[in-house]
Amino acid sequence: MAETKESAPDFTKVSDENIKNFNRDEQKKEDKKWGYDLYPERRNETYKTTLKNIFMGKEGTENIDKFKCEQNVWKCINKSPMVKLMMGALKSSGCAIDIRRHISCEACDYSVSGGYDPMLNQIVVCQNVAKNEGLVQGVLTHEMIHMFDYCNNDLDFKNIDHLACTEIRAANLTHCSFMSAMIQGDASIFRIKKAHQNCVKTKALCSVLAVRKVTAEEALAAIDRVFPKCYNDLEPIGRRIRRNSTDMHRAYLEAPYYGYDV
Ligand SMILES: [Zn+2]
Repeated sequence: MAETKESAPDFTKVSDENIKNFNRDEQKKEDKKWGYDLYPERRNETYKTTLKNIFMGKEGTENIDKFKCEQNVWKCINKSPMVKLMMGALKSSGCAIDIRRHISCEACDYSVSGGYDPMLNQIVVCQNVAKNEGLVQGVLTHEMIHMFDYCNNDLDFKNIDHLACTEIRAANLTHCSFMSAMIQGDASIFRIKKAHQNCVKTKALCSVLAVRKVTAEEALAAIDRVFPKCYNDLEPIGRRIRRNSTDMHRAYLEAPYYGYDV
């Protein structure tokens, strides 16, 4: 009777191709860990349209999306007091924005509307998600806060405490500032404060989890560690902006007093 031979892997046959595949897989794992897989165009892979998304009317319009996105970026840079303030603050900190070099409209995963790529010092505006001027303004302001922190605060995005801190600041100065006005009507000052802090924590948690493969517990622990310090750091906007108020314009007008060149 013939012996059944276990086919053992033949290590003499490790080809260049295998090594290449291995390296590519490792790179993909690494990209995923740091959130790079959310921005396919960042990896020199052009965004692949899936048939399903075309049927849903989501894709197949990349060029039009890019054109519209770039127009919205241009409008925000010229009109939005928040974006202009952030650009002035970046310039005064020695990190002036060159629109062509530092802002890029790209197709992204539908779970994100924008991002900041510290390796290239570039803001990504997701042209397939942030589809109107208001959303683009939100993305630009949020990501410019990360850019500002990277420029001024020795930010290390691989350090989860640093990431948590800059996400707390971005949520505090942009997203949740708008929220606080909506809940102001019926709440006591104490409850507003509490609700606002909860908004910042929740938003920062979502942001951290969107880009980093960590558990919610790990992300929350980091947020709690740095919360008091980062929540109270209002640079460079100087205040929490309320919706339908003149706060945005006031912040912009007062920027020169903080030494920002707007
Ligand atoms: Zn963020």
